[in-house]
Amino acid sequence: MSESVFYAELPWPVAEARVRDGAPVFLPLGATEQHGRHMALNTDVVLPTSMAVRAAKRVGGLVLPALAYGNRSQPRTGGGPAFPGTLNITANTFSLLVRDILCDLYRQKVRRIVTVNGHYENVWPTIEGIELALDAIGRDRCGDLRIIRIDHWEMIRPATLARVFPNGYPGIELEHASVLETSMMLALRPELVDLSQALHDGPASFLPYDRYPKPPAEVPASGVLSLTEGSSAEKGEWLLKDCEDGIVDIVNREFFAQ
Ligand code: ZN
Ligand code: MN
Repeated sequence: MSESVFYAELPWPVAEARVRDGAPVFLPLGATEQHGRHMALNTDVVLPTSMAVRAAKRVGGLVLPALAYGNRSQPRTGGGPAFPGTLNITANTFSLLVRDILCDLYRQKVRRIVTVNGHYENVWPTIEGIELALDAIGRDRCGDLRIIRIDHWEMIRPATLARVFPNGYPGIELEHASVLETSMMLALRPELVDLSQALHDGPASFLPYDRYPKPPAEVPASGVLSLTEGSSAEKGEWLLKDCEDGIVDIVNREFFAQ
């Protein structure tokens, strides 16, 4: 039995020993959500999990099972609930899941935790989950607990964005199922992408406010909010390298710097 980077593939004595020796523990946060006609529903799970694995291998870390259900998809950032395949949970449920996992990791004496998020709508419910965990543990009893929260797209360097988007970066909200995610999936899991199915009906043009009930007509029929043209595995590798290096730098600075 070779030793896995996946926490859940270890026998408990090995997991316990690795934690006792200070292994950082990564929690990928994803979603099951439409990603256009050309790409798999698990894109938001594959990307942060793969980045966490790459980083964990470099820093002696472990990767927890990903949260594969995300906070409610929104039309302006993920296409919204109208698409078949998108499975939403509420922000409240999501934040309580994060809270419970963090509290149990703390009980298991894990003190170095990194959440790696791949779904835009998870940002605030994750923050709330972390705050609730600190409330539950007791802020004066946290000791050497340190939780780092990372959104993977924040790791991409401006120079890389300029290379990937010579005509300007549309911003992460509009990049849903577009060049960033498609390129990284082409690099990691090309069998989950079929560019021949891309509709090229974007980019979406949204009003700068929300209306309820949500009018689905604003979202391009494909579910892609920006453009898939220009996606490539090569660009995906540039982006993944930034994400991996960025996460490794943060872990080394926050957990291992003297
Ligand atoms: Zn996505
Ligand atoms: Mn998403």
